[in-house]
Amino acid sequence: MEKGKINVSVDNIFPLIKKFLYSDQEIFLRELISNATDATLKLKHLTGIGEAKVEYGTPIIEVKINKENKTLHVIDQGIGMSEEEVKKYINEVAFSGAEEFLDKYKDSAKDAGIIGHFGLGFYSAFMVADKVELISKSYTDAPAVHWSCDGSPEFSLEAHDKSERGTEIILHISEDAASYLKESTIQGLLTKYNKFMPIPIKFGTRTETLDKPEGAKEDDPVPTQEVDAIINNTDPAWTKAPADLKEEDYTAFYRELYPMQFESPLFHIHLNVDYPFHLTGILFFPKLTNDLSIQKDRIQLYQNQVFVTDNVEGIVPEFLTMLKGVIDSPDIPLNVSRSYLQADSSVKKITSYITRKVADKLQSLFKEDRKDFEEKWNDIKVVIEYGMLTEEKFFEKAQKFTLYPTTDGEYLTYEELEERVKELHKDKDNKTVYLYATKPDQQHTYIEQAKQKGYTVLLLDSPIAPHLIQKLESELKEVQFARVDADAVENLIKKEETNLSKLDEKQQEELKTLVEDTVKSFGYIVQTEGLSSEALPFMLTEPEFMRRMKDMQQTGSSGIMGIGSIPDMFNLVVNTNHPLIGEIFEAKTEKKRKRLIQQGVDLARLSKGILKGKELSDFITRSVEMIK
Ligand code: ADP
Repeated sequence: MEKGKINVSVDNIFPLIKKFLYSDQEIFLRELISNATDATLKLKHLTGIGEAKVEYGTPIIEVKINKENKTLHVIDQGIGMSEEEVKKYINEVAFSGAEEFLDKYKDSAKDAGIIGHFGLGFYSAFMVADKVELISKSYTDAPAVHWSCDGSPEFSLEAHDKSERGTEIILHISEDAASYLKESTIQGLLTKYNKFMPIPIKFGTRTETLDKPEGAKEDDPVPTQEVDAIINNTDPAWTKAPADLKEEDYTAFYRELYPMQFESPLFHIHLNVDYPFHLTGILFFPKLTNDLSIQKDRIQLYQNQVFVTDNVEGIVPEFLTMLKGVIDSPDIPLNVSRSYLQADSSVKKITSYITRKVADKLQSLFKEDRKDFEEKWNDIKVVIEYGMLTEEKFFEKAQKFTLYPTTDGEYLTYEELEERVKELHKDKDNKTVYLYATKPDQQHTYIEQAKQKGYTVLLLDSPIAPHLIQKLESELKEVQFARVDADAVENLIKKEETNLSKLDEKQQEELKTLVEDTVKSFGYIVQTEGLSSEALPFMLTEPEFMRRMKDMQQTGSSGIMGIGSIPDMFNLVVNTNHPLIGEIFEAKTEKKRKRLIQQGVDLARLSKGILKGKELSDFITRSVEMIK
C-alpha cells in the first residue's frame, strides 16, 4: 500500500470547504454523476474511433444506498482510471482545483449562488462524507486501484481486485449528512438534477407487471418481475431536431418537465443554435393569469443535460422568465456572479438571440393563423407587453403583432388602430387620443357614451397596461391615451361641441354655484360644459394622470407604493346642453332644483360605482318618490 499526502498547501482544507459549501451541499451527487457520465461518454468516443478495443454495450450508472454501512455508492462502467491516472487526476488536478477554488472564493463564498454552479467536481463528495473511497478499473489492461481518503489531506492507494471496467465511488456519509442515506432524499436529488442526463441512471428497482400466461384463470395473480428503475430520460425533446418532433411530443415533454402542471402550454419555441455559441432548448408559453405572483415552475437551465439551476436571471431576458421550459448551453459561464454574467458578451448574445427567436415565433404565429393568435392573446399579452416595456429590440418587433383589443371584441394591430381612428380621434391640439377601458363592467356608461359618438374604445386590462401606455406615449409622438372616464376625454368631445351651450355665461355661473352648493361635501370640482345633448347630464371624470397612478399602484409594480393610497379626485362635468339641465334651471322652487341636482349627481356616482350604503338607500327612496 502506498501512502501519500495530497498536494495542497492549505493544511486542512476539508472542514473549510464543508463549511463554505454547506448551503449547496446537495450538488455533490450531481457532480459525481456528471463525472460518471463523462467517463462513460469518453469510453463511447474512444470505442467509436477504434481507440478502445472493448465492447461499449449499453452502460449504465448505478446509485446505491447501503444503510448498514452508512455508505452511498455511485458506480459507472466508463473509461476508468489506472493508478497513474488516479494520482494525476484525483490527487493533483482535483485537489488543486479545489484549493484554487477556495482561494478565489474565500471572501465571496457566502454568495452561495456561485458555489453550486462552480462544479467542484469529485471533491464535493467531502461535503457529506467523512471518508471517500474510489475503486477504479481502467478500460486498458492496467490493474484496478483502490484510493481512499478520510477527510484529511492524506490518502492511501492500493491494488484492488475489481475486474469490471469502470469506477465506483463510495461515500461514508457523515453523521450530520445522514439524510443522504434515505431513498427519498436521493430519489429527489436524482429527479432534480439528473432527470435528463444522457446515460441511464439506475436507482433501486421497480415492479413491472407482465402479461398473464396463456390459459391462466381469471383470479390467477398477475405475474410481476423486478426490473432496474431508471430515473432519467436519456434523450429529452430539446436534444432532438425540431423536424423529428410532433406537437404531441412537445406537450409530452412539457408534462415530463412539470408533472404537476395540468394546463397544456399554448405553444412552444424550439431554440437551436451552433454559432457563435451553442444553445438548445424549448421554451413554452404557458397560460398566464393576470396574477404575476403565481409562478412556480420556471425555466430550467442545463449544461449538457445536467440541471444547473432554475434561476435564469441574467441569461434569459427578464420578460421571458415568465415562460417555462429548458435552456441547455455549455457556453454559459456559471462560475461567476450574476452581475458579471449580465455584462458577459457571450451571455448578452444569448439573451438577444432568445429575444429575437421569441419575437420571430410570435410574428409567424400571428401571420399564419391570426384568429388563433387572437384567441391566445389574453393569455400571452402580459409577456408581450412586459417585453415591450423592457426590451427596446422587442418593442420594435412587437409593433407588428401586438394586438389592441376593443371593447367590442375586435383585435387590432397598431397600424389598423391608427387607420381606424385617423380623423375622429383628434383632439384640439391635433393629437390622436386613444380611449381605453380597464374594467368594462364598471366603466360601462362611459364606454357606451364614447361608442355613441363613434369612438373606438380599447380594452386594456392587463396589470401592466398603464406602464405600456406610458411607454407608447413616449415612443409615439402625438399620441395620447385616455381612460374613458378620464378628463382627457372631455377634450375630445369638447372639440366638436364647443359653444353649443344653451345657457349664457351668467346662467352657467349661476348653475355652477347651485351645483357646487349641493355637492360641497364630496369635494368635486364642478365644470360646466356644453356637450352633446345625448351625453349624460352629470358625469364624473378623473384626471388621467391620477387614474394611471392608481392603476399602477394597484398592480404593485410602479415604485409608487408605500406612499399610502392615492386619494380620489373627481371632476363633476355638468352638460349644459342636456334637457335635464334646462329643467333644473326652470324649476320653481329651490328645493326642487336641489333635488334634481342631487338625483343627477347620484346617477353619475352610480355609474361610477361609488354610490353606496346610506347614500344609495337615499337615492332609491328619492327615486321612488319622484316616480310617484
Ligand atoms: P472535473 O470533472 O471538473 O475535471 P473532478 O474533480 O470532478 O474535475 O475530476 C477530476 C478528474 O478525475 C476528471 O477530469 C477525470 O479525469 C477524473 N475522474 C473523476 N471521476 C471519474 C470517473 N468516475 N471515471 C473516470 N475518471 C474520473
